[in-house]
Amino acid sequence: MPRVSVRLASVKPSATIAVKQEADKLRAQGVDVIDFGPGEPDFDTPDNVKRAAHQAIDDNLSHYLPTLGLPALRRAVASHYRELYGAEYGESEVIVSCGGKNALFGAAMALFGPGDEVIIPAPYWVSFPEQVRLAGATPVLQPTREENGFIARASDTAALVTSATRAIVLCSPSNPTGAVIPQEELSLYADLALEKDLFLIFDECYEKFLYDGRKHASPARYHGKLRDRLVLVSTLSKTYAMTGYRVGYAVSCRPLIAAIEVVQSHDCTHPTAVAQAAAVEAMSGPQDALNGMIEEYRRRRDLIVAGLQSIPGVTCSTPAGAFYAFPGVTGLYRRFRVNDSIGVATALLKEARIATVPGEAFGAPGYLRFSYALAADRIREGMERFRALAER
Ligand code: PMP
Repeated sequence: MPRVSVRLASVKPSATIAVKQEADKLRAQGVDVIDFGPGEPDFDTPDNVKRAAHQAIDDNLSHYLPTLGLPALRRAVASHYRELYGAEYGESEVIVSCGGKNALFGAAMALFGPGDEVIIPAPYWVSFPEQVRLAGATPVLQPTREENGFIARASDTAALVTSATRAIVLCSPSNPTGAVIPQEELSLYADLALEKDLFLIFDECYEKFLYDGRKHASPARYHGKLRDRLVLVSTLSKTYAMTGYRVGYAVSCRPLIAAIEVVQSHDCTHPTAVAQAAAVEAMSGPQDALNGMIEEYRRRRDLIVAGLQSIPGVTCSTPAGAFYAFPGVTGLYRRFRVNDSIGVATALLKEARIATVPGEAFGAPGYLRFSYALAADRIREGMERFRALAER
């Protein structure tokens, strides 16, 4: 075996990608797998966005850009924060990255190092703890409870703060639970960050994926008092069904963005220029496609939650946002003759040909994550297969 870096000794590969590969393998053998695995919209990128990409190629947008990204895109991001939250960020306080993942990674590399602790509520998005470990720091997991809707509480976070704590990483709406942190709780988090001198890294990649008339709550509202402690991260991947374009961003005060810029200047430099031009159109052009998508996700959410709730041994509450359901499956262990949710996920893939992600991947054994970013008839068929196996 070739010897790889010690940095990787404590880092796991992305579990969500591993599940996708397993499902792909079955599919390559001709098996009809219903794939609830990927956190990826099944919609096509809107036509106006595709046209902007074509136009950028024809206009020869083929040279290096500033590391921070296309100025027009940074202005579009800054006006998004100004219009929605009254947060004044300048063009140089935005960095465009290769997806939200790259922005979060840049922030971790720029802000954390050996000896630092970073508090992450669990269930967490798979990459948060691993990015912290890659930066040489230590993730400290904060359990949340299903009976509280998996919402992270600032008082629970406060109890974990030590002299080594550098930051808190929050994600709302949450992948994997769909939990939405209310504005009042974010206000408590802002106070905690100030009182304990911590960074607040806020992942709002699902900011548009809210249902039942809810509005997104963001700590961007506290940009004034949190200015040099707040890092906001979002992406165009989900909102505009452009995962493969790889465009996301981070927004913060200039010194922190400058630090992330140094990291990025030695890494990817910037996302593809053509993708950034398409992103300008996505953010600044008509938003009708987005509204249609959100309505469709809401219908699918209701369908999958009703389906899951009807399966014996499964518990499932209605997620407020994102596009994931996060049912509890411990009630299936005896029936499936397994003793963890990896066992349930394996049985579902092998015997019902449905792919899910076991909760272990998110620090939450006993649960499965179902993405409902797939067509309604596939969701229905998947629920039928699940029920048939559970009732067998
Ligand atoms: N944050 C969260 C919570 C996510 O679910 C994802 C995608 N699964 C990302 C960040 C990164 O998305 P991207 O890099 O495609 O923008």
